[in-house]
Amino acid sequence: MSILFGPAGNSDSFYEQGYKSSVEMPKWLRNMGLDAYEYSFSRGVNITQATAEKIRDQCEEHNISLSLHAPYYINLASPDDNKIKKTKWYLMSTLEAAKWMGASKIVFHPGSRGDQPREQAFSRAKSVFREIIQEKNNKGFDNIYLCPETMGKKNQLGTLDEILELCREDDKVIPTVDFGHIHALGRGALNTADDFEDIIKRIRDELGEQSLKNLHCHFSRIEYTQAGERKHWTYGHTQYGPDFEPLAAVLHKYEVGGTVICESRGTMAEDALKLKTIYLEIKK
Ligand SMILES: [Zn+2]
Repeated sequence: MSILFGPAGNSDSFYEQGYKSSVEMPKWLRNMGLDAYEYSFSRGVNITQATAEKIRDQCEEHNISLSLHAPYYINLASPDDNKIKKTKWYLMSTLEAAKWMGASKIVFHPGSRGDQPREQAFSRAKSVFREIIQEKNNKGFDNIYLCPETMGKKNQLGTLDEILELCREDDKVIPTVDFGHIHALGRGALNTADDFEDIIKRIRDELGEQSLKNLHCHFSRIEYTQAGERKHWTYGHTQYGPDFEPLAAVLHKYEVGGTVICESRGTMAEDALKLKTIYLEIKK
């Protein structure tokens, strides 16, 4: 099984080398030896169709697999109907952009529980999500995967169990497994190969063997507090976990396929290459 590696967003070095536009990223990544790119609409979907199609063409030309990150403002659990309306609109506009860009996966954060009891918030999130899936399929976006992400802060929805439950809603919903977030939420939970193996097995048991053939992963070292995630670091900041070696061994052992997106601060592409090198070394 092969895994594709790439960054979330553009490395500092990309700009330091004088590049300005994400249109130039696919070629830059391919020249580095990377295979994937996660383009972020974190602050809103603001791309023209022309630019989107240029990125698509570049990704095709340089064989880069593209995923998108939907805006951070999404909250499936909001008690405010107006915010739910906006949440739906953010996801629909990311889907539209995905179509232009040829992206097959959309990563998003499910939202926050706010003042609601967790179960109540999650059940609202689930029913809103059902409506979104319905609308997505009605609008002809049914071949694009929605990938809710495991989150790193206590108050956010998105424990691994919650994400797996959302994934059971539709074939075209698959998890974004953010190992840094799981590590942070569990206050340093991921250390040994067994720790990672537990996660892979839970996904397999809940979603089936097939789910491991197209797994979308996020990885970075992460600092945390009692409340969970604090800050993403680079792979060189070894005082923060998790390490990638035990995960790489587990990915190989379970013949996991899919994508690993590196979310290091500033050096995401360089670190994605480090992760790829570690993985290829273990695979040998
Ligand atoms: Zn995210």
